Amino acid sequence: MARTKYVFVTGGVVSSVGKGTVASSVGKILSVRGLTTQFIKIDPYVNVDAGTLNPYSHGEVFVTDDGGETDLDLGWYERFLDIRTSRINNITTGQVYNEVIARERRGDYLGQCVQIVPHVTDEIKRRIRLVGRGGVDVVVVEVGGTAGDIEGLPFLEAIRQMRLEEGYENTLFIHVALVPKLKATGEFKTKALQHSVNELRRIGIQPDIIVARSEANIDKEARRKIALFGTLPEEAVFCSYDVDCIYELPLILEEQGMGRYIVERLRLTTQEPGWSRWRKVVSLYKKTRQTVKIAICGKYTQLSDAYVSVKEALLHAGVNMEASVDITWIDTEAIEEEPEKVNILSQFDGILVPGGFGKRGAEGKILCIKYARENDIPYLGICFGMQLAIVEFARNVCGLEDAASTEINQEAKHPVIDLLPEQRNVDAKGGTMRLGSLPIYVKRDTLAYRLYRQEVINQRHRHRYEVNPDYWETLQKHGLVFSGLSPDGRRVEIIELPGKFYFLATQYHPEFLSRPNKPEPTYLGFVKAALDKKIGLESFQEPQLVI
Ligand code: GLN
Repeated sequence: MARTKYVFVTGGVVSSVGKGTVASSVGKILSVRGLTTQFIKIDPYVNVDAGTLNPYSHGEVFVTDDGGETDLDLGWYERFLDIRTSRINNITTGQVYNEVIARERRGDYLGQCVQIVPHVTDEIKRRIRLVGRGGVDVVVVEVGGTAGDIEGLPFLEAIRQMRLEEGYENTLFIHVALVPKLKATGEFKTKALQHSVNELRRIGIQPDIIVARSEANIDKEARRKIALFGTLPEEAVFCSYDVDCIYELPLILEEQGMGRYIVERLRLTTQEPGWSRWRKVVSLYKKTRQTVKIAICGKYTQLSDAYVSVKEALLHAGVNMEASVDITWIDTEAIEEEPEKVNILSQFDGILVPGGFGKRGAEGKILCIKYARENDIPYLGICFGMQLAIVEFARNVCGLEDAASTEINQEAKHPVIDLLPEQRNVDAKGGTMRLGSLPIYVKRDTLAYRLYRQEVINQRHRHRYEVNPDYWETLQKHGLVFSGLSPDGRRVEIIELPGKFYFLATQYHPEFLSRPNKPEPTYLGFVKAALDKKIGLESFQEPQLVI
């Protein structure tokens, strides 16, 4: 068995430079050559996982099958390579220190002074190698943050050591840094990139490849400068420039020769790259023949990264219908303040309320759901978007006037959504929700069954509340259908409203399983419904897969 190779991706100049998509593209370039590829995202913050971070500042929490609450870059790895990641693919300072301190308390280091080098760095290396175990060909390790950040130092030190321990031919350092283009002169400015390379060198890491992140493809002069000051051949300088379709990036880097360069540098034995399927997906993205307008009604509207998987799942579904999905973010707090603003929704072909937490903006979301139901605009509700659809239905159809979720009103007379029983004594917030992939039984003769065409599906969850069993009968009597339940029949997983064109909501998060070439059925159904309703079809017809 050949030795596992490690590709380390660092970032420079600014954060959010697109390291995640570059790392995903590198993985894609390797996997189309028949290599088994795994990923690690290192997050140097002290939180143990992303679950307690505000999605407004940090972006979406991506949930893995095993219930890891991880960084959103794991979502990109999954979408680009059509793989399943797990909690071990996301390493944080919090996890590393937790482990080292627990060992120290157990007495594992008895007599020693426990230090960042070697104890912390050893633990980082152990966690990285854990992912490479069992014959993985390549592990792509993305180091979050920017070269020079104080909290990133132990991680950079650990990967510096890995070059020594694993050997030159088994390790590769890729540095991704911003190269701004000046509007006035049209010049690409490489100085900041040069400084960040120097910062890495100071730590003892000489990049093998530099990826300039720029709005347009860099010119010859910029490439020459980057190579000269980065001490690299020009063939080791690549450019990741702005693209309309993010899934095109691996093809762009491949065209620039990245695949060939990495294969030679790491002395990999590979097959001919097989890009045909991926090319087909990208070309479908580029040649859509219709547009569908979707409103996502939520709280964090300024930063679409808070719902990145939702957005991508909509785009994947659109591509399958040869449609581009035009997404508008509707701030439900504004609707709460001025309820008549909800009428803006008349402009949309579909309405989606995504996952969410807490009181703020919740009443606005309920108004959006009411609008969708009363005007029969296709509706997809995700997690909180399902729970609030129940609240809306209970209030306005079942006549339970002050129905609510106890998450938004603890005193509600009709707590139609309530804490899961096993959550009642849980106080700690980290990793304590109902999390990860769980089986769901889909009822026959329902919209959900028409979409999934399977009786058992597995989907990822992240919630503390559920449909209160005390209200099942009332809700069902008024026409709401529970089309998916947990295997023990105790938990509502999918709801739908039969008389409507498309009104479906899930307790789980289907977006985490959507892929550019494999749209998730509920999203696909939703986008198809929005398109069909728009052109005046009488009723919803199941979509056919074209990719
Ligand atoms: N806040 C709700 C709950 O905890 C919904 C969670 C979500 O939308 N992910 O159950």
